[in-house]
Amino acid sequence: MQSLQELQQELERYKLEHQKLSQRVEELSDFIENASVPIHWVDENGIIIWANQAELDLLGYSADEYIGHHIKDFHQDEFTINDILQRLSSDQILKDFPAILKSKDDSVKHVRINSNVYRKNGEFIHTRCITTDITATIENELKQAEMLTELEESEARLRMALSISNLGTWDYNVTNGILKWSEGCKEIYGLNPDAEVDYEAFSKHIYPDDREFVEAEIKKALDPGNGSYDIIYRITRFDNDAVVWIKSYGKVYFDETGKAVRFIGSVLDITSAKLANEQILRNEKLFKAIVQNIPNSLILIIDKDHRFLTVEGDLMEKLGYKPIDYKGTHPSDVLNADRYEAAKPLFERVLSGKTFSVEYKAATGEDLKIHLIPLKDDRDKVYAGLLIATDITDSKKAEEKGAKLAAIVESSDDAIISKTLEGIITSWNDAAKRLFGYTADEIIGKPIQTLFPEDRLDEETEILSRLHRGERVEHFETQRKTKDGKIIDLSLTISPIRDSKNNIIGLSKIARDITSKKQEDMRKNDFIAIVSHELKTPLTSVKSYVQLLLAKAKKENDQFITNALSRTEIQVNKMASMINDFLSLARLEEGKVYLRMEDFELHVLMVELVNDAQFLASGHTIKLQDCDEIIVHGDRDKIGQVLINLLSNAIKYSPKGTTIILGCKKVAGKVNIYVTDEGIGISETDQKRLFERFYRVDNQLKTVSGFGIGLYLVSEILKFHDSKIIVESVEGKGSTFSFELEEVKIK
Ligand code: ADP
Repeated sequence: MQSLQELQQELERYKLEHQKLSQRVEELSDFIENASVPIHWVDENGIIIWANQAELDLLGYSADEYIGHHIKDFHQDEFTINDILQRLSSDQILKDFPAILKSKDDSVKHVRINSNVYRKNGEFIHTRCITTDITATIENELKQAEMLTELEESEARLRMALSISNLGTWDYNVTNGILKWSEGCKEIYGLNPDAEVDYEAFSKHIYPDDREFVEAEIKKALDPGNGSYDIIYRITRFDNDAVVWIKSYGKVYFDETGKAVRFIGSVLDITSAKLANEQILRNEKLFKAIVQNIPNSLILIIDKDHRFLTVEGDLMEKLGYKPIDYKGTHPSDVLNADRYEAAKPLFERVLSGKTFSVEYKAATGEDLKIHLIPLKDDRDKVYAGLLIATDITDSKKAEEKGAKLAAIVESSDDAIISKTLEGIITSWNDAAKRLFGYTADEIIGKPIQTLFPEDRLDEETEILSRLHRGERVEHFETQRKTKDGKIIDLSLTISPIRDSKNNIIGLSKIARDITSKKQEDMRKNDFIAIVSHELKTPLTSVKSYVQLLLAKAKKENDQFITNALSRTEIQVNKMASMINDFLSLARLEEGKVYLRMEDFELHVLMVELVNDAQFLASGHTIKLQDCDEIIVHGDRDKIGQVLINLLSNAIKYSPKGTTIILGCKKVAGKVNIYVTDEGIGISETDQKRLFERFYRVDNQLKTVSGFGIGLYLVSEILKFHDSKIIVESVEGKGSTFSFELEEVKIK
């Protein structure tokens, strides 16, 4: 029997034991409760009966939200948890069993579960589950797998690019510093396919000026979180040190700690594109120079995306585009949508390599011609499009004017014919067809002589030589032959056709049928001839009687009658000279002019004429500027008639009190005879027509009598003497009429 003391001692001992034990339990539960490893217990129904703080922290729940709930609620995959519970209830021990848990924030946790069942007396008390969070590892694995596919994909892409362009690839292992280049890459660098490279060699072949930039870019790419690399720079080739422009594109891959591990990328030789660019710049200067020399023009260069590389010329603004600097802009940004839409097909066509031109009417009314030319590189690849626009408004107008003129020519009543200098007919209007009977088809291409009567075949040579001297042949009266052989009278006006450089390239002829006018002229001539002839006989007897009476009156010293008869004689003489002119004209027209050529002393004739003239014109002083002892060859009467005409004109057309000179001088073996007055003068336009038949100047001296045949006769008579009448005159100052005759040398 134990003593009370002993019992007490034993109790104390138990107490102590108990104390120790409970402290131990406390320590243990604290250890488990606060362990860094997540632990939980589940009962045989799958209800969580306990979980430590680490477990709650892992998934983010409070104890209430977790403990007392079914474990299934926290598993992502029902199949897995059923499997786990099944295994545990059949007393299996789970080791690193994979599972996925749901966190409170809907994220998932990848875990490995180690678990077994705690039984007491064979009875299921609870499971003991230790969870290990491997989410980070799993994610890392996934990322790596992703990265790998990405790598594979980008490599595949590179390989593809490689096969379609001269692209090279490189692969730089940042960790061990090994650099690998593809064959294409080596080719760009001028290396053999089996050559080895390293980073140092790569760095050495960066063009010196670009090295700093490239190295900075590489460093930037390797910075964690960056990884991109896309630059253009120059390298020097290994084989020939040639400078090559490359575009290098790369990507850096980092490990889970953010350390760069792999740097891969591509290089593309863009030298030719770069050179093309330089070519564009060079061309630009050239185009600028061209444009500045073509007024109203515009030069545009567009790149493959239609961007304006060059815009030169003043036309842009003229066409109503904004006055901005278009260089470098894209049409979609600077033009209104309609305009760009309209231009787009043209841009596309030229960039596809076609050369073509279009005409275009600008909104502002100008007509433009636009030439589109593709610009190609050495390999015949289009790198840009050149557009040259010129304002053709003027030439368009000229074209229209030409068409209008052609219409006028066609509808003219006068025959209008043009021909080459060789005399080949090149155009033929409707009136020409009516006049000559030939259709345009029949006659164009034929020699003009087809229309000439046999006796006038050499007339063309004369006309040509006159035109060559620059003269316009006007109202040239001649005859031509129609298709059915009829001879017609024509008045021709012939003018030279000149090219833009003023060279004569052909002739145009306007022919007017004057046959009926001719016939009328003939009748008029006949009439004048008859009348003059009939008047001449009575006038001659009047003249003789006047002279007779005058002699008598002088003898009887009857001053009044002498005076009156002298005046009568002057008037009779005037009348006689007029009738003489009419007769001469009629004879001339009929071709009945006969010259009585002789050598005669000019001086004697001139003295006679001056005396006669002075007798006629009492108000004027008539002076003789003589050259003595000159013998000339000609028809004395007719030359006399010429000079009488010139003198009487000088008297008629100059005021009283002025001086008239009849003179002569020797000029280069010839004798120049002239009549100078201080009269009203003749305008330049009238000077050209003075010598036409019946031409009279429409001047203020309406009262001066005359028919406009005097100067015509003068010029015709002189023509028979192989001479020509020349007029020099200044309006209001006076005129000089002169001509030359051959001097006869006395042996
Ligand atoms: P007309 O009978 O009218 O004088 P002409 O043939 O002699 O005819 O002259 C033609 C025209 O030339 C004249 O109408 C006249 O106006 C002009 N004319 C001729 N000679 C002179 C001159 N010396 N001074 C001014 N005008 C002249």
